[in-house]
Amino acid sequence: MTRTDTTGAPAPAAASFASLPLPPAMQANLQQLGYLAMTPIQAASLPLALAGADLIAQAKTGSGKTAAFTLPLLANLNPRRFAVQALVLCPTRELAEQVTQEIRRLARAEDNIKTLTLCGGAPIRNQLASLAHGAHIVVGTPGRILDHLSRDTLALDALNTLVLDEADRMLDMGFAEDIAQVVERCPKARQTLLFSATYPEGVAKLAGRFMRDPKEVKLTERH
Ligand code: ADP
Ligand code: MG
Repeated sequence: MTRTDTTGAPAPAAASFASLPLPPAMQANLQQLGYLAMTPIQAASLPLALAGADLIAQAKTGSGKTAAFTLPLLANLNPRRFAVQALVLCPTRELAEQVTQEIRRLARAEDNIKTLTLCGGAPIRNQLASLAHGAHIVVGTPGRILDHLSRDTLALDALNTLVLDEADRMLDMGFAEDIAQVVERCPKARQTLLFSATYPEGVAKLAGRFMRDPKEVKLTERH
């Protein structure tokens, strides 16, 4: 196999968020956050996800996957409808809190979008009080989300976007059945976005159970 020597060649222009169908306030917020060029996984997945497709996206840790699912879920969201419209499932509380932070930064462009984190290990009483106040977006671990669904303290009838983040790790941690039960309680008419650092057989199976004709974007490392 021959390799093209690109030394000295100009780097290809990195795709800009300006090429995406996002509202001006969102574009301005991205600039303020210092998000000028899209990362490769964002450039590959955002046009598909913003067009409404179900998506399986694989890219290594630190590649910007959070924004790749957050911008589409925000695009699907109606801020004037105060009900849970997006659910993000994460493997751990720490990751759920990181995702919540990033969602809040990206959602700043809109007035008053409320994001709530619901994870195991935190007192359920506080979560019940927060749920009583309502939220547009919920981020949490599968076990605790299922717990709230079983208690009827979380309703997903207004949900339009379901995200499975770090799907490989969720499976490693034994969450497959909890995830299946959560998905069963989500409306069928929804967009499902699955993100993962690796793509083992288990993740492919999981995707096959819940996704509708998904597009696949896989960025494997070459170095
Ligand atoms: P992953 O989920 O793939 O591990 P993250 O979504 O946590 O990656 O992103 C890693 C870091 O990169 C975060 O600090 C995030 O704010 C930053 N980031 C994401 N997208 C961009 C971008 N387009 N430009 C600059 N920084 C970005
Ligand atoms: Mg991530």
